[in-house]
Amino acid sequence: MTYVLILAAVLVLLNTYPLLVSQDLMFQSKKTTLQRHVSVMASSLAGLEILTPEGVSQVMALLDDKDLARLIVTNASGLIVYDDWETGGAAGRYAFFSEIVQALDGNDVFYSEYSDGAFRSRAAVPVMYRNMAIGAVYAYEYDTVQGELLKGFQANLRNISVLIGLIVIVMSVTLSKALTRRISELLRAIRIVREGEYSHRAIMRGSDELAQLATEFNSLTGRLQATEESRRRFVSDASHELKTPLSSIRLLTDSILQTEAMDETTVREFVSDIGEEAERLTRITEKLLRLTRLDDKTETEATEVNLREVLEKAIHMLTPLAASSGVELIGNLENQGTVRATEDELYQVAFNLIENGIKYNVPGGFVRIALRNDEEGTVLLVEDSGIGIPEEDMPRIFERFYRVDKARSRMAGGTGLGLSIVKDTVERYGGTVKEEPREEGGSRFVVRFPGKGGSEA
Ligand code: ADP
Repeated sequence: MTYVLILAAVLVLLNTYPLLVSQDLMFQSKKTTLQRHVSVMASSLAGLEILTPEGVSQVMALLDDKDLARLIVTNASGLIVYDDWETGGAAGRYAFFSEIVQALDGNDVFYSEYSDGAFRSRAAVPVMYRNMAIGAVYAYEYDTVQGELLKGFQANLRNISVLIGLIVIVMSVTLSKALTRRISELLRAIRIVREGEYSHRAIMRGSDELAQLATEFNSLTGRLQATEESRRRFVSDASHELKTPLSSIRLLTDSILQTEAMDETTVREFVSDIGEEAERLTRITEKLLRLTRLDDKTETEATEVNLREVLEKAIHMLTPLAASSGVELIGNLENQGTVRATEDELYQVAFNLIENGIKYNVPGGFVRIALRNDEEGTVLLVEDSGIGIPEEDMPRIFERFYRVDKARSRMAGGTGLGLSIVKDTVERYGGTVKEEPREEGGSRFVVRFPGKGGSEA
């Protein structure tokens, strides 16, 4: 609509401005030629001193009247002494045209107008003799030749404008229809996705902005779908994980209540099992809360944390577990390394990795913890001589609740959330974590934190 309005304005301008300019040019040229013409006549007549019909006629016969529609000569009192009109004219009468009156006052007069394809021009000049107006020459020109020219020009412009207008209107309507159809398709897709149908995709051909918009929308929907799926999986996994210890507790309490005269040792054993399950529930909920906090991305006060001190603390805490599992903890911590994070979160990362190294190890094995710096940042290595991770499970071990060997993890008090917490935390501070198998058996976790590494110790 806007384009059509702009075009209409342009066409109106195109139809008026050039015409006005050419009309003006023609008026100017008429003025010069007609005025010059009557001036020549006036100068020729000036030689007569007194304008009489005979004298004027003689002079006029010698001059070219240049296709004038009418030529009138009056004397000083406005009496017409010559009129070239074929049907007798007004000779012998007084002329009261304003042009003649003005010319007798000593003024050159010119008027021109254009209408209906004809220029009507009038010019009058005084006939001067010794600085006195002894008469006036008045000429009237009726020109249809140039008028027709202008008329043709006007008609051409109008036809071209109408044609352009029609083409533009047809094109605008067609284009806007196509555009509206495509936008409606996109809107429809947005509405369907809003209703929760995340698998729907907008189909849009071409490579214009709308097609790009559709592609962006589809990839956004794809991400939404993935997030939604992982959320669903998380909720169902979490409920499942929470349900298992709860059912055990339920089963144990039922057994205690329903078995009459249960001996005290069995009761104690069952109650201790209930305690263990409760502890397990606490562990799971604590880890879930930790993950939720990571998801929320609430601003925590990150500071420059000395990673070596954090590792020493984690090793110290896990030494009793390592000793009871017959696993040796080796800390290669000659290097310093600072990481921008919170101490508590870094401790959690170190603790989870070292604890896994102990949990999934064999008696007599070891867990080696090393700290390294390079130009890109600080690197933490945790490698063990344990059972290792089968290749097919590697891509999934960082998923929430994923465990290679459920029973073993359960026995070791695992929740399947430790590595998810490691990954989420590390990535939150711009780092990466990856697992690689060791050739000698066991696995190696490499955590890379960005930023300059600390100084060599
Ligand atoms: P969990 O609480 O079960 O230890 P994690 O998220 O920490 O959960 O680890 C997920 C799974 O990855 C574990 O159940 C285990 O099967 C495997 N895993 C993790 N670390 C190791 C390791 N160092 N050696 C062998 N397997 C490991």
